[in-house]
Amino acid sequence: MKKNEEKQLDFPWSQRNDTQAERAKPSTVYVGYIAQIAVDAPLDKIYSYSVPDELAETLKPGMMVEVPIGRSERKYKGFCLKISKSKWKGTLKPIIRIIDERTLFDEKIAELTDWLSKYYVCPPGLAISCAIPASVKKTVKSTRIKPYIISRPYREPTFQLNDDQEKALMYINRLVNNKKFETVLLHGVTASGKTEIYIRAIRNLMKVGRGAIYLVPEIALTAQMIYRLAERFENIAVLHSGLTEAQRRATWQAISEGKISLVIGTRSAVFAPVKNLGLIVIDEEQEPSFKNIQSPRYNTRDLAVKRAQLENIPIILGSATPSLETYYNSQHRSGWHYLWLPKRIADLPLPDVALVDMYQEHKERKGVHLLSRLLEAKINETLHAGKQIILLLNRRGHSGYVFCPRCGYVVHCPNCKTRMVYHKSANRLLCHHCSIKLPVPEKCDRCGGTMNKFGIGTQRLEEELERKFPGVKLVRMDTDSMKRTDNYEKTLSDFANGDMNILLGTQMIAKGLDFPNVSLVGVICADIALSMPDFRAGERTFQLLAQVAGRAGRADHAGSVVVQSYNLSDPAIQSALNHDYHQFAKKEMYLRKKLSLPPFSRLTRIIIQHTRMTAAQNIARQLAQQFQEYAEKYKDISVIGPNPAVITRLRGKYRFQILIRCPSASVMMDFFTKLRNSSEINLFRKEVIIDVDPVDLL
Ligand code: ADP
Ligand code: ZN
Repeated sequence: MKKNEEKQLDFPWSQRNDTQAERAKPSTVYVGYIAQIAVDAPLDKIYSYSVPDELAETLKPGMMVEVPIGRSERKYKGFCLKISKSKWKGTLKPIIRIIDERTLFDEKIAELTDWLSKYYVCPPGLAISCAIPASVKKTVKSTRIKPYIISRPYREPTFQLNDDQEKALMYINRLVNNKKFETVLLHGVTASGKTEIYIRAIRNLMKVGRGAIYLVPEIALTAQMIYRLAERFENIAVLHSGLTEAQRRATWQAISEGKISLVIGTRSAVFAPVKNLGLIVIDEEQEPSFKNIQSPRYNTRDLAVKRAQLENIPIILGSATPSLETYYNSQHRSGWHYLWLPKRIADLPLPDVALVDMYQEHKERKGVHLLSRLLEAKINETLHAGKQIILLLNRRGHSGYVFCPRCGYVVHCPNCKTRMVYHKSANRLLCHHCSIKLPVPEKCDRCGGTMNKFGIGTQRLEEELERKFPGVKLVRMDTDSMKRTDNYEKTLSDFANGDMNILLGTQMIAKGLDFPNVSLVGVICADIALSMPDFRAGERTFQLLAQVAGRAGRADHAGSVVVQSYNLSDPAIQSALNHDYHQFAKKEMYLRKKLSLPPFSRLTRIIIQHTRMTAAQNIARQLAQQFQEYAEKYKDISVIGPNPAVITRLRGKYRFQILIRCPSASVMMDFFTKLRNSSEINLFRKEVIIDVDPVDLL
């Protein structure tokens, strides 16, 4: 019984069998209204309460109430899901009061959050809570703040859609008009006219009084696109993390009253209470930033697909480089459709990409250079021509790998043949598959060069540029230097105004940016993303390079792209150079299938974290064993781990991970639902993070 006692300590009231009726006098029979309440706390259960007579008239599903829980009668906020008249024996505790007489969510959102709670393994009340902005949940009297909308003078473009666009638009219009749920992948190379299709589809449905949600990965980086939308619609509500509480509240209010029917926003806008919703659009559907970074860790894209299904409307996922999951679904699953735009508008050529073999480069020169001779020459040329340059150095993650700067060799695990990860704290190399540890070699196995374990970063590049191009005006943009949205906008507008010569930064600069004066894009080390100890490394590298290549040559002058790499023959790099998504997908799918990785399976990642390493490890071992036992009831579920996470320590906590692999989403959901009902394992303790369909394994 030890296990149970521990659970009691964690969440004394979360026991599913702890119904209040059991403790009551069994003899008396009562008749009245019972309300189902999901509590805004990590309690994995829906509770029943009696509705006092004086509240019975007012209380409706969707309202927020206050309820007592447990013997201590601690008061909690809760959301009313359902009210029914019935008989019960004994006593049910009554609801204390109605906190807010507004209905904060409707039946569709209740269904959506119910699915969210089940699929993403999150307590039901927290799932509802995350669908409603904190400022909306607060009961303040109405303020005079205006909703956050953008509008600009109307401008109709003069061009006509090309045949591919026309066909795609007709297909989408038909779905919208028939109110048919279908997930459409709109796959089009950069500048193939996808945005124009979204705009026209939305205009079409707004004419008949319907609304739309348009989801983007990042507001600051899509500012130009939003202005373009604003020229075509009367008013658009913008929902993103930069709004003040009051603005968000006013905007939400205006949307729910039907005063605004087009909402553009990031993750949480998927819950926007748009009236008479007709279409959802997700731009750049492959972006990892659609994944919510706190619990519940939902993927906005997948949640949006669920919402579209519940609302019985189509949803468009747009991308130049779709995630393999989406691409696979669009080819193989019913309820999905694939639309392909193969050409750029006006047959603009895709830019030429020059590849530099850094292996060769280092053989022919002394010392470690971040810039190849070709790139250096191109930078000079571009500066003299008065044009601008974007340089990309994709250095992300907390632990690196040990590599030889002379030949590009990376230390691999002798057992698993995967790249070993460098752990700075222990000064050791670790294999994340079999957990063997090796000392860090001084010299390269292949060429005898001195191994480099610190890799290369944006700061070092900055120094090298300053040395080689004295007086050049540089601006650096990465997650370290850009903590706030304002900074992005300021930096980008400085660059757009032409005050700066070179913009250098991490992958965040590769997206959605359109600078007419940029004529050179350089990728310093295409291999960095490729060396991430993550099965999506190849996919991310392809996406990054394809995006970068799409940046150059958008305006009338041809741009040039230089990509430096140690792995010229890597399929991700080769396919990106040829702008060939289908070739890449084919090769990558083959590997994923062989290894039973998504899209051929579903993963859930459980992270266990604790300030003490042994505590983290013990909890991880115990959990893994419990999962293991539970998984034996299923044929195809494997439990992998516990293993140290790639990022072994984060914010002072040691991290271990367990992976659960299932053949499909429905098996995964079934597994966790049964596990939660059995209450054998407490998943909602503070040391445990559950991440269903993780976007990285770091
Ligand atoms: P994507 O979203 O695929 O990157 P956009 O919709 O942004 O492509 O289109 C790229 C550019 O081409 C935009 O400036 C857009 O206004 C313009 N455009 C779109 N469709 C056409 C068309 N049929 N004829 C001419 N220009 C077009
Ligand atoms: Zn190994």
